[in-house]
Amino acid sequence: MKKRTLIATALTAITLFSVAPASAQQNAKFITIGTGGITGVYYPLGGAICRFVNQNRKDHGMRCTVESTGGSVFNVNALAAGDIEVGFTQSDVQYQAMKGEGGFKDKSQPKLRALFSLYPELFTLVARQDAKITKFEDIKGKRVNLADPGSGTRATMELLMKEYGIKAADLKLATELKPSEAPSALCDNKIDAYVFIAGHPSANFQEAATTCASNIATVSGPVVDKLVKANSYYTKASVPAKMYKGTDNEQETFGMMATVVVSADLPESNAYAITKAVFDNFEDFKKLHPAMARATKEQALVGNSVPFHPGAAKYFKEKGLMK
Ligand code: GLU
Repeated sequence: MKKRTLIATALTAITLFSVAPASAQQNAKFITIGTGGITGVYYPLGGAICRFVNQNRKDHGMRCTVESTGGSVFNVNALAAGDIEVGFTQSDVQYQAMKGEGGFKDKSQPKLRALFSLYPELFTLVARQDAKITKFEDIKGKRVNLADPGSGTRATMELLMKEYGIKAADLKLATELKPSEAPSALCDNKIDAYVFIAGHPSANFQEAATTCASNIATVSGPVVDKLVKANSYYTKASVPAKMYKGTDNEQETFGMMATVVVSADLPESNAYAITKAVFDNFEDFKKLHPAMARATKEQALVGNSVPFHPGAAKYFKEKGLMK
C-alpha cells in the first residue's frame, strides 16, 4: 500500500513537471515566424531565415517553420498572444506598437523586442494605365484597394490618406483585398489601383506589371516630405526605372525598414541562435531574395524603436556591430 502511494506520488510529480509552463529561460523547441502574403517579400524571407536556423538544429535544438499571415499589425498581435515566436513588421508599425498609437491605440506592446532589420520596404501605388493615376492624389474618385486590416500596408495607407485629407468616402470604391488578390483584381478591372508596402522587386508587383497594362505612381510632395521629416523611421526612396514593365521612369515614394521582432519572453539562447543563423550566413542569405540585394549587416540596426532583445544584442556586440 505504502509502496503504491509512493509510486503514485512520483507519477504525479512527473506529470506535474512535464505539464508545467516553460520558464522564460527554457529554450523554445519550435519557432514559428509570422510573415505576410505569399507573393510579398516577408514570406519568402521568413522561409530563408528558417532554412538557415534549421541547418544548425543540432547546435540549438530549434525547429523553425514559417507562416503566411495578414502582415505587420497581425504579427505584432500574434506575438503578444503567444501564437508565433518571431514576426516581420514595418518599422513604423513597430513604433506605433511601442507607443500605443494607430492600430495599437490603448494597447501598447511593452514586451516587443527587435532582433534585426533587413531591407527597405517602399510604399507602392500600382494603377491600371487607363485609370490615369500617376501620383497619390489621383486616387480621389477611383476604385482603390486599401489593403486588408492587419497589414502594415493598411496602417500606413490610413495614415497617409489622413495626411493628404483624403477620406474613404472620396473614393469611388474602397476594397480590403489581400496583397495576393490585388494584382488580379486590378487586371480584371475590378479596381483602378492598389497599395502594397514591400521590398523591390517583389512577385506581387511583377504579376501586375506582366498581366496587364499598369504603372507605379509617385507618392511625393510636401505631405510626404513633412511625414518623413517628422518620423525618423521613414525615408524618401524610389522604385528604380524599368524595374517593372509599364514603369520606365524612377518613381519617387517613401519607405521604412522591414524589421524582425520577438517578445521579451523569448529565451536569450533562441534570439541569439536566430540572429546568428542569419548574420553568420549573410552573403548566402542575401542571395535568397532580390529585395535583399543591396542590404548590409549595418542596416540590421536601423529603424528600430523598441529595445533589441538581449540575445540579438549579444550577437551584434560580439561582431562589433553594436556598442
Ligand atoms: N509590409 C507589408 C505589411 O505588413 C507586408 C510586406 C510583405 O509581405 O513583404 O503589410
